Amino acid sequence: MPSLLSEKPNTKRVAEFTGMSEWQLGMAVSTALPCHPPSSLGQPKLEGQNGQAHQRTLSLLKGCKTIEEFKQIQAVIIKTNLQSDVPSVTRLIRFCSFTLPDALDFAVHLFEQISQPDVILFNTVMGGYARTSCPIRAVSLFARMRESDLLPDHYSFPSVLKACANATALKEGEAIHGLVIKLGLDDNVYILPTLINMYADCEQILSARKVFDKMPERREVVSFNSMITAYARNSQPNEALALFREMQACDDMKPTYVTLLSVLSSCALLGALQLGKWVHEYVNKNGFDVNVKVNTALIDMYAKCGSIDDAKQVFDQMPQRDTPAWSAMIVAFAIHGHGRSALLLFEEMQRKGMLPDNITFLGVLYACSHTGLVEEGRRYFDSMSRVYGIEPGIKHYGCMVDLYGRAGLLDEAYEFVQSLPIKPTLILWRTLLAACAVHGNVELGKHVVDHIFEVQRSHSGDYVILSNMCAAAGRWDDVKAIRKLMKERGITKVPGCSSIEIDNAVHEFFSGDGEHPHSRKLHGMLDQLVEQLKLVGYVPDTSQVYHADMEEEEKEATLRYHSEKLAIAYGLLNTPPGTTIRVVKNLRVCGDCHSAAKFISLVFNREIVLRDLNRFHHFRNGTCSCGEYW
Ligand code: ZN
Ligand code: ZN
Repeated sequence: MPSLLSEKPNTKRVAEFTGMSEWQLGMAVSTALPCHPPSSLGQPKLEGQNGQAHQRTLSLLKGCKTIEEFKQIQAVIIKTNLQSDVPSVTRLIRFCSFTLPDALDFAVHLFEQISQPDVILFNTVMGGYARTSCPIRAVSLFARMRESDLLPDHYSFPSVLKACANATALKEGEAIHGLVIKLGLDDNVYILPTLINMYADCEQILSARKVFDKMPERREVVSFNSMITAYARNSQPNEALALFREMQACDDMKPTYVTLLSVLSSCALLGALQLGKWVHEYVNKNGFDVNVKVNTALIDMYAKCGSIDDAKQVFDQMPQRDTPAWSAMIVAFAIHGHGRSALLLFEEMQRKGMLPDNITFLGVLYACSHTGLVEEGRRYFDSMSRVYGIEPGIKHYGCMVDLYGRAGLLDEAYEFVQSLPIKPTLILWRTLLAACAVHGNVELGKHVVDHIFEVQRSHSGDYVILSNMCAAAGRWDDVKAIRKLMKERGITKVPGCSSIEIDNAVHEFFSGDGEHPHSRKLHGMLDQLVEQLKLVGYVPDTSQVYHADMEEEEKEATLRYHSEKLAIAYGLLNTPPGTTIRVVKNLRVCGDCHSAAKFISLVFNREIVLRDLNRFHHFRNGTCSCGEYW
């Protein structure tokens, strides 16, 4: 490893890494130049009589679990003058960081009284701060450490980079990366994964990959894990899975449970059930099936890939379950339209003495809203803060708006939004707008759109919903006006996109798609298919197609090549009879495709599982699990 006190800062290399200008880096590096090594780097030692007294004081911490208990020990700490002893303060801070974060301020207060804290002490406080709700304090402390001429070591950087990640402080993170390079620590196995995490949390996935690619020792499971997680968290599941395959191709590289968590969440994002099942087998074969987190990720994966039975099986076979595991299963039932099962499970969870958290309640409220259980939903929402002391968040409010909206209680929904202790967000208004659309309330819809436009004017979805509402109500002048407005504001529609996984490959289709290599065959097939469906009663629902000068036939043709129909047709063509067809769509499924899917499930005797932006639709024997309620 190069000397820690390397010569001139290599700003060019830093700039290449971080994308910062050399000038900016010059500033960052010059304020961060190391001067001389730290005075004490040894293990904390306790000596003499005082040492014994401190030892006794510290041993009091063993059973201390609450801040009240800690306050009693605080008096002893001050009485025995513990703040005069650096190693004791270090241990106290470490205790607070990991066990009792509420007491961290007091520990830091003692740290402030030490005249010349060493690197270990600085590192410990930075580590503590990085875990708090105000991680940026670790970065300030790092700067202070540099000012006091202390040289950061390979424990300092992971702490401060973790803090940058938690605070999404990209500029600071980049400057620290510069210093890492400057000190020649850019091949350090402890620091590199935290650099990747920092860039990933700041949504700089390309920078994260650059760090990963330049690793001298890339064959480190930890770095692979960091990069795979970075992709998964930044919604790039394909890249995550590609890297996972690369990882498997390396000999002596064994995935850990952390790898599996990210791989499973990528499968969930893609709706890639086959790959998810393969990972499940891997989990069983390699003894990860006792890991609560892995099992919870499996439940989530199966639920999001449309297989609620597999999710339930994993849940039932879990040797032990924690709150996230219960929540995952409740959410799974909820998004599959099994509202009653979700609520029964919630009752069972409470009987078993498990405490629900905010995710559990999301599942519970979602279950109520998608099953039309208005009274129950209201009751559970109230119990959140009253019984469990959980403050509802924006997503819980969203569920409530959805609950009222779906049940057609639009005025109550509107009142609820306006009575909130926070300023209503776009998502809340959009939930209400969707409800107006479903119930055909154009007047309230227009009103809601006004609220949305106060916040944001450029989202095509709102215009499309409003325009479709007006179209369904036959208000073609309004439709025309909305189209004109969209044009003036330069807004284009987000294209509908549906995907289907066949033999481990994910095929994507866009509405009206002529791009897919098989599009010709598919269009031909859909033409035939629609005629077949008509024989058993399917009527294309052209009410929402803007009809400027379009003939009825043309309108039908626009509907016919919607992305979800293309994906389903592709599934019919490329899977053996009787296989379940699983499709994922980026927007809400349209009414016509919903109706067509029901008929296809009947005529072709296929189960179709369609995941749209909001929920799952299970089509079987001509009906859908949502009961037309979506
Ligand atoms: Zn459609
Ligand atoms: Zn449905």
